Amino acid sequence: MPDVIKLLPESVANQIAAGEVIQRPASAVKELLENSVDAGATDVKLFVKDSGRSLIQVNDNGCGMSLTDARLAFERHATSKIREANDLFAIRTLGFRGEALASIAAIAQIQIKTRRHEDELGTLIEIEGADFKQQSPCSCPAGTSIAVKNLFFNVPARRNFLKSNTVEFRHIIEEFQRVALVYPEISFSLYNDDRPMFVLQATNLKQRIINLMGNHFLNRLIPIEEENPEAYIIGFIGKPEFAKKTRGEQYFFVNKRFIRNAYMHHAVDSAYKELIPDDSHPVYFIYLDVNPENIDVNIHPTKTEVNFRYNQVIYSILKSSVKKALGKFSLEPTLDFDKEQGIEITPLPPGYIPKQPEIKVDPKYNPFSQQSGTSQFQVKKPVDDSWKNLFPQKTEEQASYILQGDTEEVPTDSNESNEFITPDSNFLIQLNARYIVAPVKSGLMLIDQYQAHQRILYDKLLERLSTNKAGSQKNMFPQTVHFSPANADIVKEILPQLNSLGFEIEPLGVNTYVVSAIPGDSENEDVNELLEKIIDNYKKNLIDLKSDRNTNLARSMARQMAIKPGKILGSEEMMEIINQLFASKAPEISPDGSPTLRIITLNEINKKFRE
Ligand code: ADP
Ligand code: MG
Repeated sequence: MPDVIKLLPESVANQIAAGEVIQRPASAVKELLENSVDAGATDVKLFVKDSGRSLIQVNDNGCGMSLTDARLAFERHATSKIREANDLFAIRTLGFRGEALASIAAIAQIQIKTRRHEDELGTLIEIEGADFKQQSPCSCPAGTSIAVKNLFFNVPARRNFLKSNTVEFRHIIEEFQRVALVYPEISFSLYNDDRPMFVLQATNLKQRIINLMGNHFLNRLIPIEEENPEAYIIGFIGKPEFAKKTRGEQYFFVNKRFIRNAYMHHAVDSAYKELIPDDSHPVYFIYLDVNPENIDVNIHPTKTEVNFRYNQVIYSILKSSVKKALGKFSLEPTLDFDKEQGIEITPLPPGYIPKQPEIKVDPKYNPFSQQSGTSQFQVKKPVDDSWKNLFPQKTEEQASYILQGDTEEVPTDSNESNEFITPDSNFLIQLNARYIVAPVKSGLMLIDQYQAHQRILYDKLLERLSTNKAGSQKNMFPQTVHFSPANADIVKEILPQLNSLGFEIEPLGVNTYVVSAIPGDSENEDVNELLEKIIDNYKKNLIDLKSDRNTNLARSMARQMAIKPGKILGSEEMMEIINQLFASKAPEISPDGSPTLRIITLNEINKKFRE
């Protein structure tokens, strides 16, 4: 039998190796940005066209390269960053494998212009699929500009494997953010199809986070810092109340590299335990510095994984420093969330003699009448009256089991009795600021106000979307709202729907919109929060439910706009919820499938007394 093993031609070997490092346009972005940082640049500009398919270009003002270096840079294992094996244990640069440029060159057309600060003339080199095409002196600014064109032009399988432009571009933004978040002292900008997406000036860490993530982060961050012989930790963690259902904004960096590490993530998560619901995730930007000798980043070609020598030690340092920061924060008086419920006692001025409080009694006050508060609902008469069968008929049955003999003792002002919407609203009570309790023929009905109101709003919103009829609006002083780039993308996508649902939103600039009205039936009037939560929920539904756009949006909005548990309702408001709920398409379940109501039957009640 003849020998069968052959050495692969170099071009094929290079393409295979390239696949490990460069999986998609975002991977090339990462490598180029990291090279600019390693080159000591203070200003880095990224230009992307067609989500990186046709162009990825990075211009920096770093050290530049000599002609020889520029040619060598594209050879496999060509690196200026390590010289011997021992250097591997003291790595402080982002790159060191000397693979990135060779890999990119194997699968794209490359043009590089580079000049060292001390040289007068720079070098221009063109490479295509790892073949040198051209090299010439050129005049160019000090620093390096690398343009990567037509990525995967010679690897159709890879090209076909790429996702939609939106998805690929989101990956690019992620990589850009991961680098920009570590070097606030470097200015970074990102231009997408010639439009500026980010223009970040050199600044401090907190401001950089805010510039990248959106202005709403300003009041959400708690600083964290811990110095220890094993590790130095610095950064910001999110206040517990801003924890999210999605995992998006969690950034963990080790020695200035973005790292995925489930174990360390667990350390942070567990420090938040009991402060946030189990299905929520804290936001964090944590920067861990350890002696490079005690980590191994060389375990994965893209270097996003790391092995720690003292894994458990780092885990506990991390956890305790997050706990410490959270504890410190909760002691700060300005950040007391319980303020509204607490009693504040202002010291009396010296010599002040307090007056005996006077109690005024309104003898006409009738706690069961409808005087308390005006309603924010428009009462719609139910289209279907069948729900009425649930309720006792007002005459015979009223006295039979509702409040039994007590009915007569209820103080009523006979002049007012005709103002009641329906006699039944007399017998509604709200339990624990969350459940509406109503006596019905078969027993006691308990309605969850939050779930019920979601059902009501969901139906209304869906109808508005399908008929294109705008609902009522609350106008407000126009307010600018900044979104993270990923959320801004979604806002752009669903802007027409948002506007037909009662918002009035217009684009203003990069990731920024002006809001001048919100839907009239929204309980939540904090525009920033309302929109952000709607978008987060929408994103989550996109992943979890794959529902169509209208359903997803109606569901997300209903959730944010609905009356929350904890809101005290007047009996008229409770009655309106009941009316509207039973006029809806599926009164028993909320849009996410939770029950809106439960009935405790008379049987069950009777049993309780006979147990
Ligand atoms: P690595 O970063 O692992 O060393 P690369 O293939 O990314 O490998 O880069 C090879 C070499 O090219 C680097 O070691 C560096 O000397 C040089 N280089 C790459 N990009 C730049 C740049 N933007 N400015 C200056 N030198 C660069
Ligand atoms: Mg590199």
